[in-house]
Amino acid sequence: MKKIILTGDRPTGKLHLGHYVGSLKRRVELQNSGEFDEIYIMIADAQALTDNMENPEKVRQNIIEVALDYLACGLDPQKSVLFIQSQIPELCEMTFYYMNLVTVSRLQLNPTVKSEIQMRNFEKTIPVGFFTYPVSQAADITAFKATIVPVGEDQSPMIEQTREIARRFNNIYNTDVLIEPKILLPENSACLRLPGTDGKAKMSKSLGNCIYLSDSEEEIKQKVMTMFTDPTHLRVEDPGHVEGNPVFIYLDAFCNDEHFEKYLPEYKNLDELKAHYTRGGLGDVKVKRFLNSVLQDTLRPIRERRKEFEKDIPAIYKMLEEGSIVARKKASITLEEMKRAMKINYFEDKEYINQQAQKFA
Ligand code: ATP
Ligand code: MG
Repeated sequence: MKKIILTGDRPTGKLHLGHYVGSLKRRVELQNSGEFDEIYIMIADAQALTDNMENPEKVRQNIIEVALDYLACGLDPQKSVLFIQSQIPELCEMTFYYMNLVTVSRLQLNPTVKSEIQMRNFEKTIPVGFFTYPVSQAADITAFKATIVPVGEDQSPMIEQTREIARRFNNIYNTDVLIEPKILLPENSACLRLPGTDGKAKMSKSLGNCIYLSDSEEEIKQKVMTMFTDPTHLRVEDPGHVEGNPVFIYLDAFCNDEHFEKYLPEYKNLDELKAHYTRGGLGDVKVKRFLNSVLQDTLRPIRERRKEFEKDIPAIYKMLEEGSIVARKKASITLEEMKRAMKINYFEDKEYINQQAQKFA
């Protein structure tokens, strides 16, 4: 069986550190491992419209921002197909058939959608499209016969839903057209769901608690120095808490022993720094300065590569257009196979037409 990746992001803003550790960094590593036969990276504009229907301009503008972030992080159109969801109408057709395989009560159980509904005050006004986006996501994944979906932890209910749909489809229509994908979560537990700079559970474009990959040196520094830390750690001498403290969670996600050698040689590693903070006698400012240095080192090369790509924007749209053509071909083959399995390929099935003719003869 071919090894195929599909993953993507909603163009609702620029990409941030949560995207980077949750999925983007891994995608680039997988892309460069050469182990995959096909890699599809989707800018999910149609999904973004499910909760931004009144603001299409925001979605439109962020397509190029997300594409620039992709290229800056090392996604390479020579190795991965970068495309835009709305340009693949086959995905809508698949979604329509998948809707019959899912119950309303099953969708209501999805914990990610539940919390997103709450976050958007959608309790009484939820658009049907938003409510059913996990079904459309199943179409995105299965259209490309993805075997692996590298995403953050918030996506695991979506992958589970996709597996259920694929299984049901194959069972009902007695076929093996659809592949049940596997989720690939970050290995480092700090990266599963990176918290926001405000200490909220998830860094998210919709919550405005992000450090963006394209932030300037000054913006990064300002955001780090005003980050939420341990509210009980009032004086330097007080013992501090590292669990649930976003500054230490970011260090877990980003720093390595070389960073200590370079910026904080009095500590060998993060364990020593954590022990000191927990004991008391280590100020937040010192830890934040260290985190700032680590993040600056991580983001500087990404920002610089982005500046290079910004010089030829039409070339990026061209690349996305070509990627969308390639992606559409793949999705249309899967859709044809699906329709054959569902026996809604009336005009192709000459034998069936003959049988019908006999019946009426
Ligand atoms: P929105 O607020 O519009 O939903 P978002 O910030 O949640 O945006 P998405 O485009 O929904 O971003 O998510 C894209 C990918 O990034 C998904 O794989 C998701 O799991 C991952 N991701 C997003 N935020 C985080 C985070 N804070 N930590 C780890 N992974 C994340
Ligand atoms: Mg999201």
